[in-house]
Amino acid sequence: MKFGKPVLHFCPSCNKPMKEKTIASYTSRGGLVFSDGYRTGRPRGTPDLAKCPNCGAIFFIHNLWAEKEMSNEEAMHTKDIERPETEDYLKAIEKGLAKNREEELQIREALWRSLNHEVRYDDDFTDEQMKIWEENNKALLPLVEAKYAEMQKAIENKSGSDDDDENDDEGQLINMLITIMELHRNMGMFEEAALTLEQIPDKRCWFRNCYRKKLHEKNRLPFELTNDEQEDE
Ligand SMILES: [Zn+2]
Repeated sequence: MKFGKPVLHFCPSCNKPMKEKTIASYTSRGGLVFSDGYRTGRPRGTPDLAKCPNCGAIFFIHNLWAEKEMSNEEAMHTKDIERPETEDYLKAIEKGLAKNREEELQIREALWRSLNHEVRYDDDFTDEQMKIWEENNKALLPLVEAKYAEMQKAIENKSGSDDDDENDDEGQLINMLITIMELHRNMGMFEEAALTLEQIPDKRCWFRNCYRKKLHEKNRLPFELTNDEQEDE
């Protein structure tokens, strides 16, 4: 993995300098993949929805107005912008950080994955976590569905684009469909999830058997996707 040149930003709240780590290139190898799309072993640069290392304020990097490349010397003395945690996302929702639907989707999707981290490896949610998870799932689903519909329309209206573009768009569209399916399962809407599962093309659905099994068991929690042909009953 190669990091790109670090970028200097100023916190919108305390105005102190802080550093964004960008990733120039990486090769992905191995790692676990989970039903919510989370992968382990991926290099993690600074996320767009980020946290000030000095005062703890949460902000979107895409909304910051001043930035510049830093010298190595400068970079050494500037703290890295941090990745928010569950509490931070909740605060961001409470304070109305999102100024549009896209930003609300970003916050709620990050909260979703962050809560999912609590139960990835066989743990259970506390009652409090479960309550927040369920509320968030309910709010996140229509946001993803609306974006999916918008994107589907945009792709239909776009003609004569090159193939690479189309593949990219289609890949993104399928990722969103998988998110919708997963949210349905999380919310106990197993029939909806099963119908969506059948819509996912085979080349992207190496996990079909293990996913079916979870639907069959009426399991709502995130789990590690596996490619086990033998698991089908
Ligand atoms: Zn700050």
